[in-house]
Amino acid sequence: MHAAELMSRIIRAKYQQLCPECGERMTESDKVCENGVIFVWYRCSRDGCKGQWLQKIRQQPATFGVVANPAYALK
Ligand SMILES: [Zn+2]
Repeated sequence: MHAAELMSRIIRAKYQQLCPECGERMTESDKVCENGVIFVWYRCSRDGCKGQWLQKIRQQPATFGVVANPAYALK
C-alpha cells in the first residue's frame, strides 16, 4: 500500500469529525499538506447545513520514517 494512502486512512479513522452545527458526521472535502502539517477541511454531510471544520494535523515522523523536525523528536 502506498504510504500516502495508508496515512490518509489512519487520519480518516482517527480524526473523524462531527459537525459543530448539527452533530452530523462530516466528510473530508479538501486536504493540503504544508511543511509537515496536514490541513483537512471537513464539510457537513447533511443537506442544507453549512457546518465546516478545519483540522490541523502534524505528521508523525516516526510513523513514516522521516524526521522532518528534530525538535519534535526530542519531545
Ligand atoms: Zn451540520
